[in-house]
Amino acid sequence: MADPRGFLTYRERELPARRPVPVRILDFREVYERRQEDAPALVRQATRCMDCGVPFCHAGCPLGNLIPEWNELTRREDWEAAISRLHATNNFPEWTGRLCPAPCESACVLGINQPAVTIKNIEQSIADTAWDQGLVTPQVPERQTGRTVAVVGSGPAGLAAAQQLTRAGHTVAVLERDDRIGGLLTYGIPDFKMEKVQVDRRVAQMEAEGTIFRPGVDVGTQITGEELRERYDAVVLALGATVPREVPVPGRDLGGIHVAMDYLVQSNRVVAGDDVPDQVTAAGKDVVIIGGGDTGSDCFGTARRQGARSVTQIDINVRRGEDRAPGEPWPMDPRVFTVSTSHEEGGERIFGTATLEFVSDGSAGPDQVTHIRMVEVVRHADRSTTPVEGTERLIPAQLVLIAIGFEGVPRGGLVDQLGVAVDDRGRVVHDEMFATSVPGVFVAGDAGRGQSLIVWAIAEGRSCAAAVDRYLDGGSGLPVPVTASSAPLGAGIASLGA
Ligand SMILES: Cc1cc2nc3c(=O)[nH]c(=O)nc-3n(C[C@H](O)[C@H](O)[C@H](O)COP(=O)(O)OP(=O)(O)OC[C@H]3O[C@@H](n4cnc5c(N)ncnc54)[C@H](O)[C@@H]3O)c2cc1C
Ligand code: SF4
Repeated sequence: MADPRGFLTYRERELPARRPVPVRILDFREVYERRQEDAPALVRQATRCMDCGVPFCHAGCPLGNLIPEWNELTRREDWEAAISRLHATNNFPEWTGRLCPAPCESACVLGINQPAVTIKNIEQSIADTAWDQGLVTPQVPERQTGRTVAVVGSGPAGLAAAQQLTRAGHTVAVLERDDRIGGLLTYGIPDFKMEKVQVDRRVAQMEAEGTIFRPGVDVGTQITGEELRERYDAVVLALGATVPREVPVPGRDLGGIHVAMDYLVQSNRVVAGDDVPDQVTAAGKDVVIIGGGDTGSDCFGTARRQGARSVTQIDINVRRGEDRAPGEPWPMDPRVFTVSTSHEEGGERIFGTATLEFVSDGSAGPDQVTHIRMVEVVRHADRSTTPVEGTERLIPAQLVLIAIGFEGVPRGGLVDQLGVAVDDRGRVVHDEMFATSVPGVFVAGDAGRGQSLIVWAIAEGRSCAAAVDRYLDGGSGLPVPVTASSAPLGAGIASLGA
């Protein structure tokens, strides 16, 4: 039973300390500090949970995390029970605890008239403490079914599906074209948001459970889709959505303009200790990032750490308000103005502005970008824009990073070999339970949903595993947190234009 007066006793929202900006931009280590002295604040925050009877936070979390239960166990500092309840719905809580935008907190009942409980931080702290105390151990299956599954792609969707299916007794191989496992967790997201030890120790846990990892295998090239189908009883496509969206304006072919992922992969490799010849680096340059989302923010923090002269992020959208708009009532996750830890580190953000042209004045070398011509725009409901007369201007940019999203899975190659249908947004077409148009081939994560979040990737990986288990065994006891058409809480309200 939660403390019924906890939220009256402790009214403040308390989060762990972030390392000071001048110190943290000198390295790529995580921004948030884990300090022993923060432990009482964590217990106070868990005590603020009202165990409100109808916990909307459950519905806000795509995984259906049992938040009030583990808040209460945290209050009692019963870490073994807390991690057990957390693992009941989430394979990788230390990832979501660090990286999830926490729609659960937007749906927290306390959040109606007080600051929400710090759910995400409590989730991370339970997982981190459990690792520290040796409470995260391999769950080796008691029986083997003799069935085989290939999971193509080792991001959070593929790894969640693989762990669930291995634990159900199937023989699972994860095939990954990169040299390291982890998908965007490893080569997209910088260490200052999550250090790679968090991926490595889960991979070690999964190996001990029996999952087979095959990095460095580009499926569609080194193994054809047909061979994959012959060798395995079922296939899960967890390919991500890797085709970058472009900025097709004059000057795009100048040197010094890169899509964000090319830049971030190189930086992540260097941080991991790899030698990257001719690395694209921001050192000493005016850097302009086109795109206002997570990927742009990660480029922002990376450029600061590489010693950029200036960093500017351009967003075509207008600056959002600080509070919920009337059409986004509680418990919806509102689209409000957010400041990431990277944005705290300096630099400029420009909103309501579009790119007209990339320009070279020759001063950075022949055919190298030196400036961007921009214009303020009015954005309409159909996403078209009208330029505002008289607002054109040039800003310096010797390095331009394009971070305006992704257009789905690569066409051709593996998806063609398998013959799975792909829609006009580059998403692998699937039914409610993640089956593609080809029997025995399933899809999970960004490859089917389109560019999304880690929490959705894990939730889809879990549900997809249940569908594969049922396909192989005729039934399944694995959980199904989401179906393919599940949407964020309150999305229906937004689509009604309320
Ligand atoms: C820079 C960046 C930052 C982000 N930050 C956040 C964040 O802070 N919080 C958040 O919730 N979400 C964030 N996201 C989104 C999140 O990372 C994705 O939604 C999530 O990783 C999707 O998981 P996935 O498993 O579907 O695909 P991915 O993580 O993309 O993994 C797909 C894997 O499949 C492999 N693959 C593809 N084709 C083949 C093939 N033919 N053969 C073998 N392997 C193949 C790829 O190499 C890749 O490793 C971010 C995204 C980016 C790009
Ligand atoms: S996974 Fe995300 S939404 Fe779910 S409890 Fe954790 S922070 Fe909240």
